[in-house]
Amino acid sequence: MVALLAGSFGLGWHFGVESTRFHGKILLVNESHRLDANYVPDELVNLYQQRHSFRMASSEIYLTRQTYEAMERMFHAAEEADMNGYIVTSGYRSYQRQQEVYAQSEPGKAQQPGASEHQTGLAFDVTVETNDGFESTPQYAWLMQHAHEYGFIQRYPANKADITGISYEPWHYRYVGVDAATRMHQTGQTLEEFIGG
Ligand SMILES: [Zn+2]
Repeated sequence: MVALLAGSFGLGWHFGVESTRFHGKILLVNESHRLDANYVPDELVNLYQQRHSFRMASSEIYLTRQTYEAMERMFHAAEEADMNGYIVTSGYRSYQRQQEVYAQSEPGKAQQPGASEHQTGLAFDVTVETNDGFESTPQYAWLMQHAHEYGFIQRYPANKADITGISYEPWHYRYVGVDAATRMHQTGQTLEEFIGG
């Protein structure tokens, strides 16, 4: 929270904040572990140009190739289980784009530039057409049960905001690989707890 407030004042926003660290192969990004302005992930692919077993809110959504391949396997398996209608709404977001999002958002509603997981190209947002929240749909329940089998975690669970710094986001999934995702699924740990940072 201190970092969040300090960041509102502009130029000195990353003063005193630890640089981003890779833990093994898992990248941790949050308010206190930020990406540089020039960080762009390798091998971004446009999802719309790939085979996709999901709908998309835009034809301009990008993720790293590995993340795309894992999510396609996941949504293809969902389809096989008659679980349809997923709509991917967001993927990679550049530092500059996050600056715009942050500037246009109410205080506390968006992460600061460098602190958004969307800059990693490893995270996406998904929803379905529903009059209730995504969290009350069977598609959400399926993801909660199976996402880890494809290497994804729900990054910002309910009741973990004190640890992640972000309140419940049922729509936001992050690729960490099958082993790590499975261990977090079993223990109920957030990425911060899993990494110990
Ligand atoms: Zn998100």
